[in-house]
Amino acid sequence: MSRDQLGSRIKKVGFMLTCKEASKLVSQSLDRPLTLSDRIKLRFHLFICDACKRFNAQMFQLRAALNSLVKYAESDTTVTLPLEARVRITKTLESKHY
Ligand SMILES: [Zn+2]
Repeated sequence: MSRDQLGSRIKKVGFMLTCKEASKLVSQSLDRPLTLSDRIKLRFHLFICDACKRFNAQMFQLRAALNSLVKYAESDTTVTLPLEARVRITKTLESKHY
């Protein structure tokens, strides 16, 4: 049985996610752990759907790149706000009563 035939069979029994559902779970998996049921459904979908498999890989690459950028920015002590911006922010914070 080919991968496409397996995909068609799984779709018929209602276990298969749509690409829209799969991409939503991929996005959610970046923010929170998925339930076991969602992880299994997503794995099956990624097994038979090359487009979602690519989307999943790209999302993880994007997250890794953003994490690297954040770490770099946090470690760069040469980046400072201009004096004018610091004064403006300080005045704004002082005028607010939280
Ligand atoms: Zn898909």
